[in-house]
Amino acid sequence: MNFSDFNFEQSLQDGLDAMQFKTPSPIQELAIPIISSQKDLIAVAQTGTGKTAAFLLPVLNRLAQNNIQSTNTLIIVPTRELALQIDQAIQGFAYFTGATSQAIYGGGDGAVFETEKKALTQGVNIIVATPGRLMSHLNMGYVKFDQIEHLILDEADKMLDMGFVDDIAKITTYLPTKRQTLLFSATMPPSIRKLAQKLMVDPEQINIAVSKPAEGVTQGAYLAYDSQKNKLIKAILHEKEYSSVLIFASTKQKVKDLHRDLYRIGLNAKAIHSELEQKEREEVLRSFRNKQTQILVATDILSRGIDIEDIGLVINYDVPNDAEDYIHRIGRTARASSKGVAYTFINDIDQQKFQKIEALIDKEVEKIPLPKYIGEGPIYNPKSPPPKKSFSKSRPPRR
Ligand code: ADP
Ligand code: MG
Repeated sequence: MNFSDFNFEQSLQDGLDAMQFKTPSPIQELAIPIISSQKDLIAVAQTGTGKTAAFLLPVLNRLAQNNIQSTNTLIIVPTRELALQIDQAIQGFAYFTGATSQAIYGGGDGAVFETEKKALTQGVNIIVATPGRLMSHLNMGYVKFDQIEHLILDEADKMLDMGFVDDIAKITTYLPTKRQTLLFSATMPPSIRKLAQKLMVDPEQINIAVSKPAEGVTQGAYLAYDSQKNKLIKAILHEKEYSSVLIFASTKQKVKDLHRDLYRIGLNAKAIHSELEQKEREEVLRSFRNKQTQILVATDILSRGIDIEDIGLVINYDVPNDAEDYIHRIGRTARASSKGVAYTFINDIDQQKFQKIEALIDKEVEKIPLPKYIGEGPIYNPKSPPPKKSFSKSRPPRR
């Protein structure tokens, strides 16, 4: 199949040609016709398989076809960086269609707020927003969402997770009840699915490899005490050259400490976390995107949706608290049919958390022995019995 088979408006097809999008990915092939038919949809497909274009293209096509001028589509996402990235993707696809968009996210100064307010009152076609910032505007009373036809939650399970669910519920009260609602993610736990159905009317469902890591990612894990982790990073980076490396840690403090240590030993590393000014966050991400910075140490701010070319290696400095986040963290590599490596460091107390991840992905991740000079790590001995039979604990580690 070819993108031209969708018979998009010529101005949209011109954008796809310019971006060298030729063959739709499986999720695009399945989702685009359903979205074009105005049905509600819950769509689950692996990280890096083109979910953004899957929801943007049918919306942009409808805007072009009907020459719509009003604020037509609201996309809600969990982080500022993702809002910005999707806004930029819209500008790419819509280059020849004339559709307009605005990212609405926190952290900017008063001038930024005014720009956002202007966009929300004068009407741009597509708003891409983080929930908190959008609520601030909604509370002021000037936002008109009565012409919204499409509500899209990207990273939907995250959006309907505890932290955001109340905001989302409030935001929907500002929208027409007759609308199309679309949910996208690489993970969709059953509890979230149930909750999601409340926002939707008789939704279609697409499930391509639910809770499965991206195909091109080779996973490994090291059992290492916290005191061994920095040496291990050095060893891994010494063994092979990677153009871009993304290291995740669960807390701001760990991110700051690790960044300081890597910087001290002369590595080209930067850090990103929520304590930075928004301007700094964007600068750091830009320098990582354009390869000026080789190593980025990040909190889970960057685990969802962020699309950066050529990240060859993801390291989980600790085991993520949420098993789903593991799939998203390691999904920052091996995007768009490329390949990548993901290593997770498991200390003595994170073992059970890691076992939950192995259960979720239904796969035992290879435990790689530490280099001899780093010393003995903890023994892998998670306390609860393995939840799935596909688990073979007796297999000796490969040497
Ligand atoms: P997901 O949201 O599923 O994680 P993205 O939408 O971020 O994935 O897409 C991952 C990458 O693949 C992006 O860089 C995007 O431009 C690229 N991409 C998506 N669809 C296609 C396609 N049909 N042809 C070529 N590249 C594509
Ligand atoms: Mg995405």
